Amino acid sequence: MPQENVWATGPEHCENGGTTCPYCGSKNTETGGSEGNYPGQLIDGGHCLDCGKTWGNLYNIAGWYDEEDKLHEDTEQMDEAERLKEVNAALLEALESNLQAWEGEEDSVKEEHADLIEETRSALAKARGEVV
Ligand SMILES: [Zn+2]
Repeated sequence: MPQENVWATGPEHCENGGTTCPYCGSKNTETGGSEGNYPGQLIDGGHCLDCGKTWGNLYNIAGWYDEEDKLHEDTEQMDEAERLKEVNAALLEALESNLQAWEGEEDSVKEEHADLIEETRSALAKARGEVV
C-alpha cells in the first residue's frame, strides 16, 4: 500500500530528534513515556497535536550513568555510526558523479546501458533514504 502524506523519511525524523511529526511535519507534538522496554532498546510514544497521528520512536542504548553520575558511552557504537555516515556520504558522491557521467553520454550509449543507469538511479535513491 502506498504511504500517503509521509513528510519525513526515517533518517530525517531521527535527525530532528524524533520530535517533529513524521506525517505532517508539525512541531506541535508530545513525546515521552516508554511504551516498551527491550534489552538495549527503548520505544517511546509520539503524538501530533495537529494531525492527531501517533508513532513510536525507537532508541538504542548509547551509554550508561554510574552511581557518581559519570557517563560511560558506547563509543564503539558511536564510532560505527560515524563511520557509516562517512561511507554513505562517499557512496552518494560516487553514485551522483556516475549518474552525471551517464547523462553526458550519447543517446545510443544511454540506450545500450539503460539498465545500468536505472540501477544507479535506484541505488542513489536508496542511499538518500528515499522510498523506492
Ligand atoms: Zn502531524
